[in-house]
Amino acid sequence: MNEAKKRIDEIRQKRDISIKTLDFLLSTEDEEVITYLRDSAREAADKIYGKQVFIRGLIEFTNYCKNDCKYCGIRRSNSRADRYRLTEEEILSCCENGYGLGFRTFVLQGGEDMYFTDEKICHLLKSIKEKYPDCALTLSIGEKNKESYQAYFDAGADRYLLRHETADEMHYNRLHPPELSFKNRIRCLYDLKEIGYQTGCGFMVGSPGQTTESIYKDLQFIRQFLPHMAGIGPFIPQKDTPFGKEPAGSLKMTLRLLSIIRLIHPHVLLPATTALGTIHPKGRELGILAGANVVMPNLSPVLVRKKYALYDNKICTGDEAAECRQCMEKRMEAVGYHIVTARGDYI
Ligand code: SAH
Repeated sequence: MNEAKKRIDEIRQKRDISIKTLDFLLSTEDEEVITYLRDSAREAADKIYGKQVFIRGLIEFTNYCKNDCKYCGIRRSNSRADRYRLTEEEILSCCENGYGLGFRTFVLQGGEDMYFTDEKICHLLKSIKEKYPDCALTLSIGEKNKESYQAYFDAGADRYLLRHETADEMHYNRLHPPELSFKNRIRCLYDLKEIGYQTGCGFMVGSPGQTTESIYKDLQFIRQFLPHMAGIGPFIPQKDTPFGKEPAGSLKMTLRLLSIIRLIHPHVLLPATTALGTIHPKGRELGILAGANVVMPNLSPVLVRKKYALYDNKICTGDEAAECRQCMEKRMEAVGYHIVTARGDYI
């Protein structure tokens, strides 16, 4: 046990992890070690962010997508996906609703939908920013060229989420069709950071073909890139995709990785994701206790919620935003944390 504790303390001090320690921490069944890892990570988060949990209002504004990622339920070749896109008015009304509930960050996420030209996105960003100048705007609409990213930034976007998905190029190629490349994904992330966005990367835990080695590469990428945010959630199969029969990523592995990431990069904004809440009824609470400090309740209109089906059995698809907000409040209070009405910027 002392040896194990020493290894965990070392991650914290060096902000790095060896593949040997990673392998050990992902496979150990020693409860004392697991508890020590979790408590060290939570302590690191408390030191910077205290008992606060930031909320982001997620608006899933289109599920049209030109890409064909093998894990994703809204991939273009899924003919069973029921497609929708929200109008600017509908999106603004989601924001209005969210603002009233105390949200000060809106995350606009969608597939790569060519209908939303740069002009339309910029118009949308300006309209939201004009009405809610005190709110942060996050975009999550995939890979674009640098000029587009710059235009969105100039129109008012503050943050951008683009998970790198995996930092192992071979693994990347197994998850994606040939027209998508790891190099371009990484190029996008560096462009975003250079422009001045608070930038988020991230990966799925337990995606088909993932090895300890690929996770090690993910951690090295995070260490090197130092993102402002990192989205880590379990892979969950969606039945109409090529990975529909693959097993989901595990709760235990996701929680341990959240903790390790917190120790490697203590300041990072780390959500306890909806996917984590989907694989376990207390997934998000456990995520917070493992070192996460963000939750992202859904603000999308209930009528379209079910249609943004990246994976099967997604939770909270039937609840109004107000219910989600309240439910989240209770869940966080139950584990000793509280939601704050603030932009929740990177410290
Ligand atoms: N089109 C945007 C948004 C993608 S959806 C983009 O390319 O960034 C947001 C994230 O959901 C993805 O980055 C992916 O990591 C995750 N996701 C997609 N399918 C998933 C699945 N089956 N299980 C778990 N997470 C999934």
